[in-house]
Amino acid sequence: MEIIHVSAECYPVAKAGGLGDVVGALPKYQNELGHLAKVVMPMYKTPFLYEHEFDVVHKGSFAMGHSWINYTIIKEKTNDLGFDLYLIDINGLLDRQKVYGYDDDIERFTSFQIAVVDWLSKWNHRPDVVHVHDHHAGLVPFMMQNCFAYKHLATVPTVLTIHNAQYQGWMGWDKGSYLPAWDGNNWGKLDWKNNINPLASAVKCVLRVTTVSPSYLEELRYNSNGLEALFEYEKGKCSGIINGIDDLVWNPELDKYIATQFGIDDVDEGKLSNKEVLCKEYGLDINKPLIVFIGRLVDEKGADLLPRAISDAIYHMQGKMNFLVLGSGDFWVERQLEDMKSGLMGYYNSKIGYNEKLSHQMYAGADFLLMPSRVEPCGLNQLYALRYGTVPIVRSTGGLKDTVIDYGIPDGSGYGIRFNDATVGDITYSIHRAVQLYSQPKRLDEVRVKMMQIDNSWEISTGKYVDLYKSLQ
Ligand code: ADP
Repeated sequence: MEIIHVSAECYPVAKAGGLGDVVGALPKYQNELGHLAKVVMPMYKTPFLYEHEFDVVHKGSFAMGHSWINYTIIKEKTNDLGFDLYLIDINGLLDRQKVYGYDDDIERFTSFQIAVVDWLSKWNHRPDVVHVHDHHAGLVPFMMQNCFAYKHLATVPTVLTIHNAQYQGWMGWDKGSYLPAWDGNNWGKLDWKNNINPLASAVKCVLRVTTVSPSYLEELRYNSNGLEALFEYEKGKCSGIINGIDDLVWNPELDKYIATQFGIDDVDEGKLSNKEVLCKEYGLDINKPLIVFIGRLVDEKGADLLPRAISDAIYHMQGKMNFLVLGSGDFWVERQLEDMKSGLMGYYNSKIGYNEKLSHQMYAGADFLLMPSRVEPCGLNQLYALRYGTVPIVRSTGGLKDTVIDYGIPDGSGYGIRFNDATVGDITYSIHRAVQLYSQPKRLDEVRVKMMQIDNSWEISTGKYVDLYKSLQ
């Protein structure tokens, strides 16, 4: 099957979070099964662009409101990534250093999506599936089915994967004129609560919706930032497929970013050696359990709870543990995490920013990974932690609930630490349990080996996506 993935992110081209990891891996594994999966995304000015060579494969233009937009599609030459990569270059709109966060993101991602559909409409054959990811690609199915110029794409099967339903790409109806001439009778397929809502539109227009974990799908019917009724109504076309991890990127035996590679047989020595490097660099004590947080510093991830939870844990448990935080996001959380450093020197440190290499070093060198998420569609961090023998401490929500079993359950099958509420009290209690586990080296070792044996690879999930596409042919 020829599968076209449309996404705003794709690792290693451009990544801001889990979306990038998934779109950088899933097509590769689909191709390994003998399919022809391709990725089309915006051309940002990221290092990848300058480190690779490209061919121009298409040039086109379209009107967006009162602007005339020219676009160029370039294709990466080597196929190094394991799939064909197409980048859409729109001068002045997409060619920026960051993926998101600009005042004109609506214009940027709308123009990207029009260019994708315009390009597909010029092909002399039709792909088997167009698979769109999150709201940045959410208008693509609507345009394929309702824009007069693209109507010949209307019968191409479309699939939406929701990686995060908190962000929906809302825009006012004044932006309706941005889309190429479309059938006004179908305005309801764009609308949600008097706005154009690209995520809602995709849910309405595609043949199948997937979320990145089964539990998250359940939660969306009760908590989805205004779309609850839509998910309830459309539940028949929705299913949850848990993300996998890319074993070529996230593998402690091969990881080039870490000081000492290790496997199940030498997990204790390997982790200790990586921990030593981290502790030295960040002024922490190698003899204490090292608890880390990696991620966006936003409410969704419970990052606002970190400053209190960390200081309370250190004070109430007499500094029996160390913390290291890597992340960026809300200014006031960043500020508190930075300000805490001087008072808690030797027990706590943080690195504000995005740092791929350090994240690998932390998964490898930490003893525990904390995820107090309020919402977690799948969560990749805990999957990486499991692979690197780092015990996840997670709130029981979304994908965290589907992938982590508490080590305390009586049948002994567990390997992580789970808590129910996103509160400082639940977090500190879980940290207390982590310290207890750390003080029993034999038990910790058993848990580590158990975690590292879990198969969270993409093979299983890739098969589920392929079965889903086949059901649409
Ligand atoms: P999100 O909701 O942010 O997409 P996921 O758990 O699905 O959350 O994916 C997060 C991905 O982003 C992981 O690969 C994680 O290691 C990475 N990540 C998040 N913040 C940072 C950071 N500051 N530096 C490096 N990697 C980060």
